[in-house]
Amino acid sequence: TSLNQPIDDREFFDGTIPDFIRTSPFVNDTTPFFIDAATGEQLSQRQLWKMSNDFLTIFRQHGLGNARDNVSDPSMGDVFITLFPNCIWAGPVHWAALDAGATLSPASCSYTVQEFAHQLQLVVPKMVVYSEPFKQLLEDAIIVSKTNPTILSLEQLIEDSERVPLAQANFQFANRLQLRPKESITRVAYLAMSSGTSGGLFKAVRITHGNITSNAIMSTKSSNALLKTNQVASAIIPVSHLYGLAQFLVFGVHRGTAAVFHKGFDFIEFLDAAVKYKVNIFPLVPPIIILLAKHPFTQKYVPDLKRNLTTVLSGAAPLGVKATEEFLERITGRKDGVSEYGTLRVIQGWGMTETSPVCTLFDPEVPVAHIRSVGKLVSNTEARVVSEGVDQPACDVDPASLDAAIKAGGLPTGEILIRGPHVMDGYHKNPSANADAFEEASDWTPDMPWYKKRWLRTGDVGFFDLQGRVMIVDRTKELIKSMGKQVAPAELEDALLANPLVADCAVIGVMDVDKGTESPRAFVVLRDPKADAVGILKSLNSQMPKYKNLHGGIVVVEAVPRNPSGKVLRRLLRDRKDDVVLGL
Ligand code: AMP
Repeated sequence: TSLNQPIDDREFFDGTIPDFIRTSPFVNDTTPFFIDAATGEQLSQRQLWKMSNDFLTIFRQHGLGNARDNVSDPSMGDVFITLFPNCIWAGPVHWAALDAGATLSPASCSYTVQEFAHQLQLVVPKMVVYSEPFKQLLEDAIIVSKTNPTILSLEQLIEDSERVPLAQANFQFANRLQLRPKESITRVAYLAMSSGTSGGLFKAVRITHGNITSNAIMSTKSSNALLKTNQVASAIIPVSHLYGLAQFLVFGVHRGTAAVFHKGFDFIEFLDAAVKYKVNIFPLVPPIIILLAKHPFTQKYVPDLKRNLTTVLSGAAPLGVKATEEFLERITGRKDGVSEYGTLRVIQGWGMTETSPVCTLFDPEVPVAHIRSVGKLVSNTEARVVSEGVDQPACDVDPASLDAAIKAGGLPTGEILIRGPHVMDGYHKNPSANADAFEEASDWTPDMPWYKKRWLRTGDVGFFDLQGRVMIVDRTKELIKSMGKQVAPAELEDALLANPLVADCAVIGVMDVDKGTESPRAFVVLRDPKADAVGILKSLNSQMPKYKNLHGGIVVVEAVPRNPSGKVLRRLLRDRKDDVVLGL
């Protein structure tokens, strides 16, 4: 049994991502479109596109994209890394680099030197655009990675853009990357960092122009009822992650949804800006939704949020029914989100970097009690649920008692496989990860569209019901989602093993329901039984960014359970009860 949404090939856009956005009627608008929450600076779409042209001129002057294709890989251009927090210039930088023919690889500002050096080595950039506060990180990572990109500060770029002569900008305008027919299917627009469907350290996900534009069309179609034009969204999810990137720099721009950019997470700034700019849409991750539901600060903002807010999008990690209802009750006074101003909806989506990123969106027509589901597949997408090689049927389960049914077990769950035009081209320079990630489609014949040739193993475990709603219940991959960000257990395990007090260890994610996030928990075997486990935890935490800290604590064990080939049996660790958890 597979689940599918109707396929309509006429909906594909055969061109670059910026060309796709420019088909929208909003590109010449002169009303404020990107707004900086901290400084109040505002740019209209017309100004943003002018800026993008000026950036293109400057990038070309630095040699970016002057050869159309990358010599070592003709499906890519020069690789271009961005290293800056969310800001109103992110759009023009992305569109200009793509127009120059470059392949973009966004870096997270929370990277350590080692992580960033790994990205530099993997993607080998020709150019890096960075923001001044991250100069040291960049310089250190360049030394460690032994790479040699041209580096350009965003601050300098903005200043220089004011001096680009019109004639030059017009010349570049005519000199944008033009794709040949069907090239949008293979031309790589993004190399996005993700630990991938098999877990482990970061890989670079090859996302094509066609992947992103298909997903924009697919998800816009599925959410048309909600995301109307003339709306304003809070852009707090980083655009260095595909969720934020697609939402704020592609889908939203095409749809004409204005965005208020936040450099980082400052709860008061976030709430103040939501009121000041009459924000209607909050694309968020579960921990922030729970913070809004519980934090005393929210109270003073409730009347304004109730009036303006129409939609909360939740993705990247599971959001519980209780948390959703608590949030809706806090803002509207009712668990179903209905107030005198209309209905506030919480729309859960499920997706991943490898699917550019949206696979399912919550069906806005169903009542809130069904929210345990991550919704229905977006158009042009198919899914299968496979357990031990056998396809599982859809299951008739009452959504109201879903959680109890999941706990009781016996549901037809399995790994979810996905097929559609938004599925990545593959992992960059990583044949073994690709072999793990894809399964050849047995029903494929040459008269079928190209993307039906293979299924992506998502590493997520779930099932679907008779109405076509998808439920996610577990994960086969090792990935931990902490505070909406990816943490690879292997990285924390390596760092723990580097501590001479640790003989063996394993890290898993434990759900912290109150905070709405998974937290990494370490199980360690000590070399000396008297060694201080809390000290080990503190030492690890001090080396890592906050989201990689052991918020789930540390447990001392006699031995780490492994199978005969040495693989950690994480399920046994997850099922353990009555552990003495230290360091919480
Ligand atoms: P990323 O590539 O960082 O977006 O991570 C993708 C992974 O996040 C998915 O494979 C899931 O494991 C998890 N994820 C994303 N959205 C949801 C959701 N709505 N519910 C449960 N897990 C999710």
